Amino acid sequence: MKLGLFGGSFDPVHLGHLLVAQAAREELELTRLFFIPAARSPFKPANDSTSAALRLRFLRLALAGQTHCEVDEREIARGGVSYTIDTVRDYARRFPQAKLFYLIGTDHIAQLPKWRAADELAALVEFLVIPRPGEPASPLPPPFQGRTLTGFPLGVSSSQIRTRVKSGLPVDWLVPAAVAEAIRNNRLYL
Ligand code: ATP
Repeated sequence: MKLGLFGGSFDPVHLGHLLVAQAAREELELTRLFFIPAARSPFKPANDSTSAALRLRFLRLALAGQTHCEVDEREIARGGVSYTIDTVRDYARRFPQAKLFYLIGTDHIAQLPKWRAADELAALVEFLVIPRPGEPASPLPPPFQGRTLTGFPLGVSSSQIRTRVKSGLPVDWLVPAAVAEAIRNNRLYL
């Protein structure tokens, strides 16, 4: 069994995230892929995040009908700062026979050695690096190991979406239609 773990803020989830998931599933033939929204990222300011309930709702809307993908609420349920190692330990315990893959954008590679319990994390997961247009390709620092995915680089980010909404610009082709509608209905990012 090959399991993909995709952590992030997902504030909001966008087509870049969804294409990453598709590439990982196709290129690795993953059995299942878990989207794991963070309660709070160790690397992002505390008050800078939309409510967990809304970020979860957007993920559910985006992944409706995607049978291989699941939303995992464990980091939100745990609360506080979300450390990947805590989540990965849970998966390793729950699925002792599975090979675990952790999806990560190239923009996060440089910070990997600073992640909590880096050595243990490197032993438990193989990283799947996702190219991001505009970000230089950087190799995984030791002791991390993994591979780079090829499809489908898309230069879109959650911060770009928040900025566009604030500026009154449409986001319709950058997030799933249901997410764009939910952003409007909740008057979010204004
Ligand atoms: P923000 O702009 O708020 O920093 P983001 O778009 O980077 O957000 P996150 O939820 O922080 O989204 O990202 C979760 C993971 O997805 C990270 O590993 C990030 O590098 C990766 N990621 C996000 N957008 C893309 C994209 N367009 N292409 C490849 N990877 C991406």
